[in-house]
Amino acid sequence: MYECEQCHGDSDHSKYHIPIVDESKGKKVMLHLECCPKENLIKLLHEKVESEKMFFDEALNLSENLSAENIEKFEKKFGTYDEIKQGIKIDKLVEILAIVDQLKTI
Ligand SMILES: [Zn+2]
Repeated sequence: MYECEQCHGDSDHSKYHIPIVDESKGKKVMLHLECCPKENLIKLLHEKVESEKMFFDEALNLSENLSAENIEKFEKKFGTYDEIKQGIKIDKLVEILAIVDQLKTI
């Protein structure tokens, strides 16, 4: 549950089950995707995809250099399956797909 900084509505007022975290004004702001300006959504999309590229590069690297130590480093950096499952961390692919979905409408 979160409150959107823009419209002050709660998470039920969005079609999406996750908010967008916009840090463009220097502080973390939670918004409904629908309340985030298009330019910011595009910027956030770019940042998130860049960060996912790094994730996949490192996952590839992990598959080529598998060790308990490297798995630990990888999970420390990107989070664990359990953290995503419990909602402690947001699945970045879901976030990217949500932004793309929202950009279709604006
Ligand atoms: Zn809102």
